[in-house]
Amino acid sequence: MEYIHNYINGQLIAPAAGQYIHNYNPATGEVYSLIPDSGEQDVELAVQAAQAAFPAWAKTPAEKRGRILMKIADLIEENLDRLAEAESLDNGKPLKLAQTVDIPRASSNMRFYGTAIQHFASEAHYMEGTDAINYTVRHPHGVVGCISPWNLPLYLFTWKIAPALAAGNCVVAKPSEVTPMTAFLLSEICMEAGLPAGVLNIVHGYGHKVGAALTAHPKVPVISFTGGTATGKAIAATAAPMFKKLSLELGGKNPNIIFADCDFNNALYTSIHSSFANQGQICLCGSRIFIERPLYEKFRDAFVAKVQALTVGDPLDENTKIGALVSEQHMQKVLSYIELAKQEGGTILTGGEQIKVEGRCENGWFVAPTIIEGLTYNCRTNTEEIFGPVVTLMPFDTEEEVILYANCTDYGLSATVWTQNLQRAHRVSHQLHVGVVWVNTWLLRDLRTPFGGMKNSGVGREGGFETLRFFTEPQNVCVKL
Ligand code: NAD
Repeated sequence: MEYIHNYINGQLIAPAAGQYIHNYNPATGEVYSLIPDSGEQDVELAVQAAQAAFPAWAKTPAEKRGRILMKIADLIEENLDRLAEAESLDNGKPLKLAQTVDIPRASSNMRFYGTAIQHFASEAHYMEGTDAINYTVRHPHGVVGCISPWNLPLYLFTWKIAPALAAGNCVVAKPSEVTPMTAFLLSEICMEAGLPAGVLNIVHGYGHKVGAALTAHPKVPVISFTGGTATGKAIAATAAPMFKKLSLELGGKNPNIIFADCDFNNALYTSIHSSFANQGQICLCGSRIFIERPLYEKFRDAFVAKVQALTVGDPLDENTKIGALVSEQHMQKVLSYIELAKQEGGTILTGGEQIKVEGRCENGWFVAPTIIEGLTYNCRTNTEEIFGPVVTLMPFDTEEEVILYANCTDYGLSATVWTQNLQRAHRVSHQLHVGVVWVNTWLLRDLRTPFGGMKNSGVGREGGFETLRFFTEPQNVCVKL
């Protein structure tokens, strides 16, 4: 049985209490490795190591910090196959997805911030008439906490630690206890890349222990969190009276709006992807599909037929399009929402149940891609986050109506709009209460753009220089000449 270790002060070490948590392979339901069940003591060690490393790291020229991050990016690329296999095994996602999306993007994150920090400069201006000059210095904060979820494990982990480190902070990071393996492998890569001891520390374990201890730690003034809205709320409750700086990337219930004048094939094929990629476990998946009435039946019938042809199965098989859900508990949650949809009057057009996969994956946690119609726009199924391979279809008649439907949840992360009418594309986009809109595409990411949600989908934005601003403290100096 493989042991995962904490990465503290440049070393791979066991948790102080010597306890471990089972790590499951979701495709087989088997325990295949052990995760440190860390606690306050481990967090304390990590914070102390980060504090000790901070003065030297903060003084390290940005170019040198950048070079180390780019070395880490190179090593992620060199280890692509190994990391992708580990991600697929740990999360249940198709290996191909990990090879083409998760791991390349993790490497891009490191490279992007390794270079961005070299272009990140602060402002200065002369005050006319008073002979004074103002300049703003952006100091790193010190020790920052980064907490990440299980759906895109290495991708979202690096999306936080890369800018935090680039800006000169030292980091105590907590990956999800559901998918810790690639963060563990990253600690080995950081050692090989020559990242100085204590600059990045990775403490594994439960959120209510490690995550809570990190959030409450008085020497960690900044928390960057991606995960569920309920967890974000708990973190905010602890952090607010301590006046911590917070970035919260939370849940979503994203609308996918399809007008009758869309490019049909593009809308159809992309919607399959935006509904079911990563088993629907991407915060940006479009789980509510609104279709303009003249196109409704044509779209529905083609969509159902294509989705029925998707191969659900062994994530390691290259023909697999839909792998396993991340855990048994999560699968039960998704199945319970399908039951709720039935109670709320929904009709299951396809899917709707757990799937038994033959062979080595017979005990895995697979759910058939599920399409539901006949629900009202504001029922629970259509307003609560399911985070699985489940989408609903609803017809609409007017722009005003679909905007009302789209905005009716407490979430506001992203939306997709399909139309060939330029004016309508802009008009509708501006009225959607979401942080990210895609028009005639989905998940086309440009790391320079601000990323994040409105309403209960989050606070703050990641991406580009936004994150470097978040991870630095501006200080203005006014000099009278
Ligand atoms: P989660 O909130 O259960 O866990 C996220 C992380 O927080 C994990 O590392 C967990 O251990 C930790 N945690 C749990 N309780 C904690 C506490 N009390 N204090 C501190 N940390 C704690 O989320 P999840 O189930 O891992 O991920 C799925 C959720 O993440 C979905 O809601 C999804 O929409 C959201 N998500 C959002 C984005 C985004 O960019 N907005 C991206 C990916 C996932």
